[in-house]
Amino acid sequence: MPSAADLVGPLLSGQRRALAKAITLTESTRLADEQRAQELLLQLPASPEGSVRIGLTGVPGVGKSTFIEALGLYLANQGHRVAVLAVDPSSARTGGSIMGDKTRMPQLTVHPNAFIRPSPSGGTLGGVSRRTRETITLCEAAGYDVILVETVGVGQSETHVAAMTDLFVLLTLPNAGDELQGIKRGIMELADLCVVNKADLDPRAATRAQTELRTALTLLTPHDAPWRPQALRASALTGEGIAELWAKVQEYAQSTDLTEKRRRQTAVWFDELLREAAWRAFQVGVNPSELRRLRAEVQAGKITAVQGVRALLRETAFAAE
Ligand code: GDP
Repeated sequence: MPSAADLVGPLLSGQRRALAKAITLTESTRLADEQRAQELLLQLPASPEGSVRIGLTGVPGVGKSTFIEALGLYLANQGHRVAVLAVDPSSARTGGSIMGDKTRMPQLTVHPNAFIRPSPSGGTLGGVSRRTRETITLCEAAGYDVILVETVGVGQSETHVAAMTDLFVLLTLPNAGDELQGIKRGIMELADLCVVNKADLDPRAATRAQTELRTALTLLTPHDAPWRPQALRASALTGEGIAELWAKVQEYAQSTDLTEKRRRQTAVWFDELLREAAWRAFQVGVNPSELRRLRAEVQAGKITAVQGVRALLRETAFAAE
């Protein structure tokens, strides 16, 4: 693996190979690599103001890759440099991937202005999104000004992706009436924009779905919210709605203090990493038989759960990793 200093120059000049290597370095679980990756990240200039980070989610089959390909090509052809990253929690747990291993964006993949990083595999969900966050920083350093982070509409990954992007887009289908019930309310609450995709299949149903989504979003959004989430309709296949979506993204970026939002996200991320590290350190330091003994005492009602936790924390030295 190259050293951090060797990578900085080529990375900043936008060389894909250096970017790919830098990402691989941040994804490595070896301690030495981690240290090198962190050194590298520190040497990079602060995130450029002009970049926009867009999170995208939706159930498998809603058209995410088709949509990202359409949006990505639209932007790349205008001279934007587009990076596509994927957070696929299924690949971490099962080794398989909901997003599939087929080449999902054939035209964008070969576009000189695009960089596509396939789903990471392995590691915890926190780990996956931690690397994705660092990958965003690396892509921006390499001159990519539009970062699209894709995630599947299942599990917790939406929350993680929404916490590392400037705005979050939920893709839905024209039969949203039925689908709305399937979309977890939590995901709707994260959305800054909702897009009814596949509008070409049934334009009237798509318009109905758009109206329903609008109503749902109005109900979910507090009156004093600085941004009112909006519902659009689109077709990734015909390109309808792609330009409108980009216009909304720009409207959002102009009406929001992104620098401040990113600063807040960084603080939340730090706290999350700390929680994760503290838990790992506790697990390393805890005496397993003492843990079992106290758990059994709590179960038997000899001591309370609060007392059991206190006793364990008193006895556990927080081992440094
Ligand atoms: P993903 O699983 O969410 O990434 O979905 P894909 O992008 O793989 O799309 C699933 C299927 O829907 C594919 O056969 C696409 O060609 C099709 N599809 C995607 N977007 C549209 C659209 O806007 N209109 C129509 N008619 N089909 C679409």
